[in-house]
Amino acid sequence: MTEIRNIFCVGRNYALHAKELNNVVPESPMFFFKPTHAVAPADGRTVVLPGDQGAVHYETEWVIHIGRRYARGLSADELIDGMALGVDFTLRDVQSVLKEKGYPWLAAKGFLNSAVLTPFTGFQGIKTCNQTNFSLEINGVQVQNGNIDQMIFDTQALLDFCGTHYGLDKGDILFTGTPAGVGSVSEGDAFTLKWGSEIMGSFTASLTAREN
Ligand code: ZN
Repeated sequence: MTEIRNIFCVGRNYALHAKELNNVVPESPMFFFKPTHAVAPADGRTVVLPGDQGAVHYETEWVIHIGRRYARGLSADELIDGMALGVDFTLRDVQSVLKEKGYPWLAAKGFLNSAVLTPFTGFQGIKTCNQTNFSLEINGVQVQNGNIDQMIFDTQALLDFCGTHYGLDKGDILFTGTPAGVGSVSEGDAFTLKWGSEIMGSFTASLTAREN
């Protein structure tokens, strides 16, 4: 399996998604973290999600893997050595409370299995990736469809911001934000993540109460 160190995520990076949640579009990239323990593979198996903490939302995202230490002037094509699709699972009701209180997002975004990832594949360069849509199907119906050329902060801007403020090195990954169409998970939903027409990964969601 591909080495994963830090998991950086970007919020509100697609205008239509910011709008669907009534969020303002940020003036600089808004980063948050997930623990590496949040990772679960989209390998056809069941992914267990919290079933007793309100709505669990799916957010389908293009995920990039960093292949070398960040330095100013390095291009995205030089920094990225792999890509995948991921689902940034979010406890939306919990997040609303955290936002209201001004608390960090960990409880809403960092729980176990909240970072589902397809296998990483070779990176074909930003230009090629800009020409391919990615999508999520639930139970065979497409619910999200996006293209990274719709990102508010493009790949280079995300890498420069993250690298400058937080550091970026080999093994770090970035969830680059979700396009519109997020929604609630139901028990037994079958998820299929597609890059163009190619299936990158799939899994079934199970909502189960967690013991405290
Ligand atoms: Zn997200």
